[in-house]
Amino acid sequence: MTDCLFCRIAGGDLAADVAYRDDWVVAFHDINPQAPVHVLVIPVRHISSLLELQLTDEALLWRLHAAAVRLARELGIAERGFRVVINTNREAGQSVPHLHLHLLGGRPMGWPPG
Ligand code: 5GP
Ligand code: ZN
Repeated sequence: MTDCLFCRIAGGDLAADVAYRDDWVVAFHDINPQAPVHVLVIPVRHISSLLELQLTDEALLWRLHAAAVRLARELGIAERGFRVVINTNREAGQSVPHLHLHLLGGRPMGWPPG
């Protein structure tokens, strides 16, 4: 989708600080980080939210998490601890309608989340 911000990043039409890329997944540093490590992991293919995910996307779901784990290790937060968050729709604060995992770490985090 050409009018989707994250499709444009995935397609290379919009600049981002890309941390990982393969044929299915792109990960890039959040422009407004909420923790010392804040990376967004997205599918290359447009999926608007978790609500649109299909059973046939099961491998993609693994790939998204595998990329997050790989980056957690590479960025030095795997042992200390990290959080993976998927905001879905308005009340959860989803502001970009293209499925994305937030990988957050590098500081202690509270629970419950705000
Ligand atoms: P959401 O609020 O939808 O869960 O997360 C969207 C995230 O995308 C936010 O954390 C926001 O800072 C980030 N973001 C929005 N626009 C851009 C952008 O153009 N580049 C990057 N790198 N991050 C963005
Ligand atoms: Zn998109």
